[in-house]
Amino acid sequence: MSCLEEAADEAVHIIAKLKESKPERDKFCAALDKLEREDKIKSIEPTLKMSPFRIWDMPVHFEEGQYDRILRSDTVVLFNYDSKSNSAKTRGSKGEVYSTTFSQCTCMDFQARGLPCKHMYKLAQQYGGVDFSKIYKSLHSEMPLKAEHFK
Ligand SMILES: [Zn+2]
Repeated sequence: MSCLEEAADEAVHIIAKLKESKPERDKFCAALDKLEREDKIKSIEPTLKMSPFRIWDMPVHFEEGQYDRILRSDTVVLFNYDSKSNSAKTRGSKGEVYSTTFSQCTCMDFQARGLPCKHMYKLAQQYGGVDFSKIYKSLHSEMPLKAEHFK
């Protein structure tokens, strides 16, 4: 039997198995979804590597709670961007002014967690050429991938 015939036989076998079992179908679809998500996420990696935001490794953006901050970055308004220091100002909900760079922010969220806050994601999107919000929104699943997928 040629390798092509073997592959065809194998494919027929897999299809038959998928047809008769819903759990098998679900498992198969989940595996395909995961591959698609990983492809999309990988597609942003070259951009991230060129960006000043690359000081944060890819898995960081899939840590617990980062998804929220990425989505909320849509509402952030930056002003006084300084291209020399790559910093900008932004206003908190009570009118307080925060100073944001690609590596840190003076807001409470960053001070408490030490992980990128919504202000930093906005800075990355607007001045760093990396739009995580676009990637997340293009993913089928609403659940963000966990960091262990990237180890
Ligand atoms: Zn911040």
